[in-house]
Amino acid sequence: MLDSILESLRVVNLPTKTDFRSITHREVALFSGAAGWGEFAPFLEYGPRESIPWLVSAIESACVPAPIAKHEWIRVNATLPAVNGQEKVAEILSWFPGCDTIKIKVGANLQEDLVRISHAKSARPSARIRLDVNGNWSVDQAVTALRATYENFGEIEYVEQPCATLDELRELKKKIGFPFLIAGDEVIRKSADPFALDLRGAVDVVMLKVAPLGGIRRAREIADHHGLPSVVSSALDSAVGISTGLRLAASFDSQTFSAGLATGQLLAGDVAEFPLVDGRIQVAQVMPTLEALAKYEATPDRYTFWRERVMQTWDAGARDQVAREEWIA
Ligand SMILES: [Mg+2]
Repeated sequence: MLDSILESLRVVNLPTKTDFRSITHREVALFSGAAGWGEFAPFLEYGPRESIPWLVSAIESACVPAPIAKHEWIRVNATLPAVNGQEKVAEILSWFPGCDTIKIKVGANLQEDLVRISHAKSARPSARIRLDVNGNWSVDQAVTALRATYENFGEIEYVEQPCATLDELRELKKKIGFPFLIAGDEVIRKSADPFALDLRGAVDVVMLKVAPLGGIRRAREIADHHGLPSVVSSALDSAVGISTGLRLAASFDSQTFSAGLATGQLLAGDVAEFPLVDGRIQVAQVMPTLEALAKYEATPDRYTFWRERVMQTWDAGARDQVAREEWIA
């Protein structure tokens, strides 16, 4: 298994359209197997242990056929990074034609957040708004910020991870005095055991990111275990990672919420075409094109880096996990 991963490994460095949080490129490793391609792209600060589910997920994607798709198209949200300025906001939203839901990154500065939301609302007045705080608010900050948001803009769809811990999320729900939905992201995907969490009274919607949760099958099991509605989402994945997310989203009977799988629109270049049509993306298994693999190919030292990363992650526990999975057989 490890040999075949390393043999087919390709490393690409994809440019982003906008410089947000000083990210201008996204580097990902891709490899192929009997069922297609897998993407291994844990964030650069992640060590081998933290990267295990990402590698298991990539192996599953490359080696195991996806579950049956119950939808041909998946509705997706626009993603607005923490940028400021009316023109910038309008420009970014123009990359998401037809999306009727906007996910807005907030949490660093309340005044700037409120202005960003108002710019998004004026660029697309009928859109639903969801916020992503990445756990950055204290309970009191969350109370203040959410009250201000509701006073200015009315109801929002949900708030993703307003505070860091489950206890804080529970306290926030009690303190705020009006009903609203909380989506759990970091609290689930960074947990040592997502199955052991008691989400009651804290989380109403489960964010599902395929790679950090260890693959399509495990992500489904986590959603089914908690019995809550879910939103399949991506980080800045290449088209290969997005296609894995789409196939997870398509495995659910219903699409209650738009999926957060349009982050490819933030890239200036990708390994395959994945058009966003009228707020939806077609479910498909993508193959990176040879042309794109060559165009965005990383330098030899980056290949060395990613090969070592794969090997260290394999040794840290991915090997044992894959050996336990019957789907690999
Ligand atoms: Mg999030």
